[in-house]
Amino acid sequence: SGGSTSSQGRQLATAQPAQEERLVVAVRVRPSLEATERCIEVISSGSLLYDDGGKSRPRKYSYDHVFKENDTQEQVYKTTTAPLVKDVLNGYNAAVFAYGATGSGKTHTMLGPVPRKKPSTADRGPTAVVGYEADVSSQDIGLMVRAIEDIFGHIEAAGPESSTKVSISYLEIYNELIRDLLNPGGPLELREDHRGQRITVAGLSEITTSSRKEVVSLLIKGNKSRTMEPTAANQTSSRSHALLSITVQTRTSLGTKQGRLFLTDLAGSERAKKTKNRGKRLQEGAHINRSLLALGNCINALSGGARYVNYRDSKLTRLLKEALSGRCKTVMIAHVAPESKHRDETKNTLVYADRANSITTKLQSSVYIDEFKNFPTKHYQSLVSELRDEV
Ligand code: ADP
Ligand code: MG
Repeated sequence: SGGSTSSQGRQLATAQPAQEERLVVAVRVRPSLEATERCIEVISSGSLLYDDGGKSRPRKYSYDHVFKENDTQEQVYKTTTAPLVKDVLNGYNAAVFAYGATGSGKTHTMLGPVPRKKPSTADRGPTAVVGYEADVSSQDIGLMVRAIEDIFGHIEAAGPESSTKVSISYLEIYNELIRDLLNPGGPLELREDHRGQRITVAGLSEITTSSRKEVVSLLIKGNKSRTMEPTAANQTSSRSHALLSITVQTRTSLGTKQGRLFLTDLAGSERAKKTKNRGKRLQEGAHINRSLLALGNCINALSGGARYVNYRDSKLTRLLKEALSGRCKTVMIAHVAPESKHRDETKNTLVYADRANSITTKLQSSVYIDEFKNFPTKHYQSLVSELRDEV
């Protein structure tokens, strides 16, 4: 069967020209939060230098896009997500992932600057609420709201005859449990149809709205319901994945077409060992790493045109099956901190993103799949054995 795999690879490589790229990898460097030594220097819109602290010469990494510290939310949106919105309006699925260690800027990209902690009673007066809303309508607003606004903009431009419905759901996966962020309560179950094709979350609220203000407040409120637990890495580190799904249904004379955009603020990619987690924290770390591992495996398999992709390893990948399969475009935005003290996490993220990126690049340049078929496996084997050590 080796021969058939290689001819498949050839087919796939030529059937996917650069503009049909399925996996786009971007790296975003967040602004330095303190005046200190740096480990990252952005040298172009597609490359950066990483300094390991003088042990060896700075190393250059290249990606589809590199966003530097002062690049705006709008630039990030236009480059990464706006092209996907067009697809979704045409009835396709698409996904954007914010990957990176805790504190690297994932939530900033997806949602915008949200208060780090619950406002104290003193802050909860009417002015605080006004200031808060003013904040989220600013130019710092993140990809989630921008995508929704963009979708409404396209629908309005299509005129009053167009019959399009937009609905959103927002959930978190924490310790392999699914919770509704729009209507917080007990954990929800995944349901599969008899063929395992369609996966739904039983009881998850789907809200149909056309008001920007309502969407913004729903997302901010939902984000506040996310499970925040302290770890040594960050006092309010987010140990959960947050998954926003925007469904666009358009009735046409030929029938109804439906596209779905998944925007995911992934849990911190830092390793359990690093954060000195114990007990409950350690278990969370293991769950988080396992689902990031499963996601990485799926993305690798899909990018390599594998015939079998294992979505079953985590709730995250089961939920995203619909987004990742078929004619789906995926954008990974890997986030890194520029301060030297975060050097190790930054390096891990750069390497993860580099692997994803090199797979796409190889596909574009028509390299046979067989040549790098085993390439990701080694990486994951060592990750898996590390994870085993941690548990
Ligand atoms: P994560 O979600 O990855 O844990 P956050 O998005 O919470 O990280 O970012 C950590 C801190 O850095 C926050 O105070 C956030 O406001 C700030 N920050 C992150 N990215 C940016 C950015 N591009 N511009 C300005 N501030 C940022
Ligand atoms: Mg976050």
